[in-house]
Amino acid sequence: MTRTLAEVALEASTCTRCKLAGMGRTQVVFGVGHPDADLMFIGEAPGFHEDKQGEPFVGAAGQLLNRLLEGIGLAREDVYIANVLKSRPPGNRDPEPYEIEACTPWLIEQISIIQPRLIMTLGNFATKYVLQTTQGITRMRGTVHSWHGRTVIPTFHPAAILHGGGEKSPQFQDMREDFALVHRTLAGRAEDAAAEPSPEPAPRVAPPPSPAAAEPVRATPGMAARPDRPVIVPAPPDEEQLELF
Ligand code: URA
Repeated sequence: MTRTLAEVALEASTCTRCKLAGMGRTQVVFGVGHPDADLMFIGEAPGFHEDKQGEPFVGAAGQLLNRLLEGIGLAREDVYIANVLKSRPPGNRDPEPYEIEACTPWLIEQISIIQPRLIMTLGNFATKYVLQTTQGITRMRGTVHSWHGRTVIPTFHPAAILHGGGEKSPQFQDMREDFALVHRTLAGRAEDAAAEPSPEPAPRVAPPPSPAAAEPVRATPGMAARPDRPVIVPAPPDEEQLELF
């Protein structure tokens, strides 16, 4: 029988599946939002504020995410927000492979309960993990992927914008375009937008993954990216800062 999100969150709250449980975490940061959300966000891992408050994306990066959501007429309560890791890595270091492996069942259960139509991955880490790609976020952002019968659209991590040029930067404008694409996709208009000449940019489609990248993380069919259309992605200049998140 399918469990409720609350039941899963309760079990996860005492999780000791990886060593992050004993490395100073304040609490498990399971996820927040609407249990039937059409749109789900996946970030990397809780930071300082998230660890203290028990909720993903509540710091400055979260405020930016809220503003981007407002820009497409949504509030946090309308969507679901989670991270790949549910515990804060000390000093915000990168997640380690075995921590990711240990935490993945929580994310899979979240997705299978919520059944979001569209998942937006936030940043390099979540995008590479979910889509099993080695492509950096500057190439992947704004591309549309079919994944487990749903759509995945990667975008920059909000923290990358904050550490980069801020809301006046071209990357913030890119993020706004990615959110507009999410909005059109949820409204079922992404194909129209691609077909008709429009002042808005058409969705970009990622290059087909290499055979290695097409291998799923685990034996779950459809986990890897299965782009529907050929490449129309211009390579943007390499932005080292953006690739850090
Ligand atoms: N960065 C993330 O990836 N997730 C959070 O919850 C906060 C910051």
